[in-house]
Amino acid sequence: MAKINSVKGMPDILPEDIVAWQHLESTWRTLTASYGYTECRMPVLESTQLFSRTIGDSTDIVSKEMFSLDDRDGNSLSLRPEGTASCVRLGVENGLLFNQQQRLWYMGPMFRYEKPQAGRYRQFHQMGMEAFGFQGAGIEAEQIMAIHAFWQRLGIDSKLTLQINSLGDATARAKYRTVLTEYFKRHIELLDDACRERLARNPLRLLDSKDKNVMRLVDDAPKITNYLSRESLDDYNRLQELLTANGVDFVENPNLVRGLDYYNDIVYEWVTDDLGAQSAVCAGGRYDSLVECLGGKSTPAVGFAIGMERTLLLLQQVKQYKSNLDCYFIVAAEQMQLALRVADTLRRDLPDFKIWLNCDTSKMKSQFKRADKSGAHLAFILGSEEADNSSVTVRDLRSAESSQMQVAIDNLPSFIRNWQQKGTVCKI
Ligand code: ATP
Ligand code: MG
Repeated sequence: MAKINSVKGMPDILPEDIVAWQHLESTWRTLTASYGYTECRMPVLESTQLFSRTIGDSTDIVSKEMFSLDDRDGNSLSLRPEGTASCVRLGVENGLLFNQQQRLWYMGPMFRYEKPQAGRYRQFHQMGMEAFGFQGAGIEAEQIMAIHAFWQRLGIDSKLTLQINSLGDATARAKYRTVLTEYFKRHIELLDDACRERLARNPLRLLDSKDKNVMRLVDDAPKITNYLSRESLDDYNRLQELLTANGVDFVENPNLVRGLDYYNDIVYEWVTDDLGAQSAVCAGGRYDSLVECLGGKSTPAVGFAIGMERTLLLLQQVKQYKSNLDCYFIVAAEQMQLALRVADTLRRDLPDFKIWLNCDTSKMKSQFKRADKSGAHLAFILGSEEADNSSVTVRDLRSAESSQMQVAIDNLPSFIRNWQQKGTVCKI
């Protein structure tokens, strides 16, 4: 029969990669908890309107990248392309935001119809933090410091650079939009059709164009920083002071606009030179109007999302994560009953000790071969001789001399604890 393959751009995550994923996830869980954030889990399917109203109809995400479908009643639903809009919807719908402060985090798959390549997929994963009810640059500073601490804990901080900008409030952006439109119109002959359409619909988006002509124009274009209100500028300067005082390096990038319409004031991205064209690893900023836009009471809000696949690609450049089975348990077929009991007693006494019990009837010789290949540190051997002595033979599969010894079954827990502490097999 013909094989059925996975959907284009939606890769499997294989067992050989799972240790790195789990390391990323557990580092994140510890980190978010230490900053007082709690997890929330949103569904992957939401009403299409949630994204078109918040992210913006003219953005690439909504106009080209959504996976949408009609349900049986004709309602348009979409697989979530990002987490912030869903998280705000969750907060508003469940009364978590009004007159309160919340620190929430989420993690999970997102979906965008993009051209798949290394670091860019149609199903990918993000982890993000969202904080509600906080004004002033302190919360942005804390979130950025949390991200910085995350990179440090993962050992990839030297690969990432923080870029910051302020988009100002709605008044500043409206003023800037007019000035920017006039500027580009003076150079309209250098813009292709797609850029002219962007100019008409959302001129700020020209600032992060990859088109060479546009990029040259952008260098001399007016900068939003010159149109910020006193308040926005104060916040932006305050953030810079807070970051500098806490040892977080950054560069100002006045052309950083982000591909989503809901941001205001401070925005930022962490970028890398180590992933080719897929340079953005994390992005975030302030989105004070989003809660109201989704029917809640006006609530200040700040958040960011980290691309997990791109983070993992960086992680792999510094360290390989492999599954580490502790013990391969070799068993003579007639000793299966005893082996099951010994292995389960050990699992109960030592929940962290990972045992692969040979549960079929294969010959000892082929079990030895599999034990060598398994990557386990230790082999336990239980044949009739060992059973007669109520013991198992323990072999260190990692040492060159392949040292081995008999250990009484009753002594196995203390033997293992000793091995876990010392990393070597020795008599107890
Ligand atoms: P890009 O400019 O690379 O398309 P983006 O600005 O669209 O990124 P955001 O919407 O800011 O990305 O999402 C936050 C992070 O999620 C990105 O910095 C990136 O690490 C990751 N990300 C976004 N789209 C994808 C994708 N298709 N595949 C893998 N990771 C992605
Ligand atoms: Mg994108």
